[in-house]
Amino acid sequence: MLYPREVIEEVRLRNDIVEVIREYVPLKKQGSSYFGLCPFHNENTPSFSVNPEKQLFYCFGCGAAGNVIGFIMKIEGIDFVEALKKLADRAGYKLPEAEYTKEEAEKVKLREELYEIHKQAGLFFYKALHSSEGNRALEYVNKRKISLSIQKKFGLGYAPNSKAALYEYLKNKGFSEKAMLESGLIMADKYKHGFHDRFYNRLMFPIFDVRGRCIAFGGRIMEKGEPKYLNSPETMIFSKKRNLYGLNFAKTAKKKEIIIVEGYMDLITIFQAGFKNVAASLGTAFNHEHAMLLKKFVSDVILVFDSDQAGENAALRAIPILVDGGFRVRVMQVPDGKDPDEFIKSKGSLEFGKLLVDAVSYMTFQINCAKKKYNMADEEQKILFTREAAKLISSIHSPIEREVYIKQISKETGISDTAVIQEISDTDKKRDRNFYYESKRKKIQNFSSNISVKNSISNSSGVIQAQKNIIFLCCDNTDLYFKIKKFLKADDFPDSDYSHLMEYASSFIESGKNIIPADAVSIFDTDEKQQKAAAVFSANVDYSSSEELSKALTEEIRLIKRSKLDCLASSATTIEQLQKIIKAKKEIEDIDIKL
Ligand SMILES: [Zn+2]
Repeated sequence: MLYPREVIEEVRLRNDIVEVIREYVPLKKQGSSYFGLCPFHNENTPSFSVNPEKQLFYCFGCGAAGNVIGFIMKIEGIDFVEALKKLADRAGYKLPEAEYTKEEAEKVKLREELYEIHKQAGLFFYKALHSSEGNRALEYVNKRKISLSIQKKFGLGYAPNSKAALYEYLKNKGFSEKAMLESGLIMADKYKHGFHDRFYNRLMFPIFDVRGRCIAFGGRIMEKGEPKYLNSPETMIFSKKRNLYGLNFAKTAKKKEIIIVEGYMDLITIFQAGFKNVAASLGTAFNHEHAMLLKKFVSDVILVFDSDQAGENAALRAIPILVDGGFRVRVMQVPDGKDPDEFIKSKGSLEFGKLLVDAVSYMTFQINCAKKKYNMADEEQKILFTREAAKLISSIHSPIEREVYIKQISKETGISDTAVIQEISDTDKKRDRNFYYESKRKKIQNFSSNISVKNSISNSSGVIQAQKNIIFLCCDNTDLYFKIKKFLKADDFPDSDYSHLMEYASSFIESGKNIIPADAVSIFDTDEKQQKAAAVFSANVDYSSSEELSKALTEEIRLIKRSKLDCLASSATTIEQLQKIIKAKKEIEDIDIKL
């Protein structure tokens, strides 16, 4: 851990969870908690709760949970230290110098070196573009009418047509082999000892993260060959699933909508035409993480895809992801089979702007795509189309919006409003039924999986629940802790995270201090583990009588200990070890908690 526990607690204390979450999600008070629409999954009725007393959030819908630091990690997509820094800034608190373990220090150093390598590589490629070897690439850029200022802004460059030019350059700059290989820009030769560049004879597009740091490159081939575009591989600092090309510029446009395009060239031409709120996915399908990334900056998305079948399919795939993410989505198709680059070159930016204004709603686009599949002159095909359209419309919740599309379909097919409405309501019912069966099926599946994993006990839900309950109860009522401590120790927990949490709780209770759930959560530094810990404290464990509680505690302690011993037995290597385990198992039966 980079910061002492007290520092983390201080930062958390200075940031009230309700106030912080309110900056992202509107909350309403209900009883002792606050509720709102979950920012981590799409929903229409609020199941996202924030508890001011525990300083924790918990979503009953998707299970997202944590303290204020965890919330910032999740919603901003940043790591623990970054979230801590952000919250410290927010509260005007100055963090002390971080203390790194050797391993952490090496990781931080490597990461810094990777950023520096990319910066230097960007400069190297840029210089090469403007040297004699870059002539052909520069010709290409000029032919595409990209102005010098835009070339500079996007840092366009050229990877020379030689085996290891970049490698030599970086080596002379003193970068380590380890970091060069890690960057993905340099590769080890397969057979001989030596190195070569990943990119050669390509027009280079630096890829920047949201903060404007170069984290990867895309390269367009200059001669004929495959692949036409080549990207950096995934590295410590680059994930194409979590980055969008151009977003570092687009976010400064401060518009409520963003234009999403397919490629580097389209993006640059659109940007040059004056539409600065544009981003592109990096040779990968638009995904949920992209949507979360955009959520921070915009509420509306205009999808601009090529008018060919591939472009249309890409738009159709992106739509549900964006709609689920709560965006207002429109689609613009460039007419006459052109791509945006060609269109702007021939018709100018004003005409392109008009197309953007006229972008159709995603629903109209989906309906139009569906229509293309049917011959509307044929009565039977017309009916099939109406059914498909009804299915699409049934995904809309707003009655007003529904009516707009119902009218549209009715007008196009000549089928009456009422018939279309009836078709939609049938689809609604069918979906509700499917939902019912689906949830029933899931329940059955869960039930049977409970039975089947009984042998791999430490994972079975009973043992997990028992560990959670015991920790919760001990923290909630420290008298209980003192009653059970001679029977159960943190070491007895088969799950190492719960064991860690129990150990933390014990040390607090033993020293007479109160446990603050929100601080207990941040003994873990990954999102997943924090969520696990927060779920412990967000539980509601209630027993009607002390007899019932005694019985439950006895059973749960037995279950936990038995499960731990089973784990130990499976890894035991000597007879002595096994004999000890058998003896301990017998003692479990004697445990009897009396309150
Ligand atoms: Zn949720």
